[in-house]
Amino acid sequence: MSEGNTYKGACFCGAVEIAVTGAPVAMGYCHCDSCRKWSAGPVNAFTLWQPDAVVVTKGADNIGTYNKTPQSYRKWCKTCGGHIFTEHPTMGLTDVYAAVIPGFSFNPGVHVHYGETVLHIKDGLPKLKDLPKEMGGSGASMAE
Ligand SMILES: [Zn+2]
Ligand SMILES: [Zn+2]
Repeated sequence: MSEGNTYKGACFCGAVEIAVTGAPVAMGYCHCDSCRKWSAGPVNAFTLWQPDAVVVTKGADNIGTYNKTPQSYRKWCKTCGGHIFTEHPTMGLTDVYAAVIPGFSFNPGVHVHYGETVLHIKDGLPKLKDLPKEMGGSGASMAE
């Protein structure tokens, strides 16, 4: 049924477990204010997958959901509060936080929403002011 490698992930306490299979569509860092406020961290390391590549293998009824906007349905564990993934239905993709799939080799390719950054990262990767054009953004690049 599945092709490629499967990587297991879990929330902070382990009540919720997930698995992702194959390869993500994109990987990088998001500097947007929404990710910052929700995660209480300066940047968010994301891996974007086709929704059917992400499966909840344990504790599905222990997942809470919050959507401030129709673009992002943010999922967390009701026991520990740990973040698990975010569904982006308008984009047709699911963002699994790199930090919750430690066995997966995170290989970032881009920084998005760099126009909102509070932590400049000089790693030589492209810095987009918002999002790529194909994801509804301006596609504009910025200096590091
Ligand atoms: Zn948990
Ligand atoms: Zn963000």
